[in-house]
Amino acid sequence: MPAPTVICAWCETTMSEGDPAEPVTHGICRMCMVNASGRELVTLAAEDADCFDMLPFGLVQLDADDCIVIYNRAESELSGCRQEDVLGKRFFDEIAPCTNVTEFRGVLDSLRATGRPALRRMRFAFRFGEDDAEPTLAEIVMTYDPETSRATLLIKAT
Ligand SMILES: [Zn+2]
Repeated sequence: MPAPTVICAWCETTMSEGDPAEPVTHGICRMCMVNASGRELVTLAAEDADCFDMLPFGLVQLDADDCIVIYNRAESELSGCRQEDVLGKRFFDEIAPCTNVTEFRGVLDSLRATGRPALRRMRFAFRFGEDDAEPTLAEIVMTYDPETSRATLLIKAT
């Protein structure tokens, strides 16, 4: 199978040129890893939790049922939720109900509906917990990978 082009999900740099006939895939480039590990991630499908924990922004990966399969350290620090308390839970219903709206979940559903690798960048005001009076404005990148049916959210407070 010809290699696809790999684009960094965060900065949209082309990490490697592939067959232009193939849909692009998404990774995280070395710059965006902030040299934490000295290597880049050529795919977001990697089951490498340690590597995700070194990212300087939050990463949440959801399976086809919107259950959390990866919840990295930066996201845990941002939200105050412990990783072990959220893994396997339904993101929109149980963990982040503030995102269960057209502007967030609806966008993800529309990416999924394309059936192709997709990326969307946006801003969103999170409300973490009931006593978070002030919403936390964050830059969000959503990607969808039809090969794994997984969606990956990158989240950085601004
Ligand atoms: Zn990058």
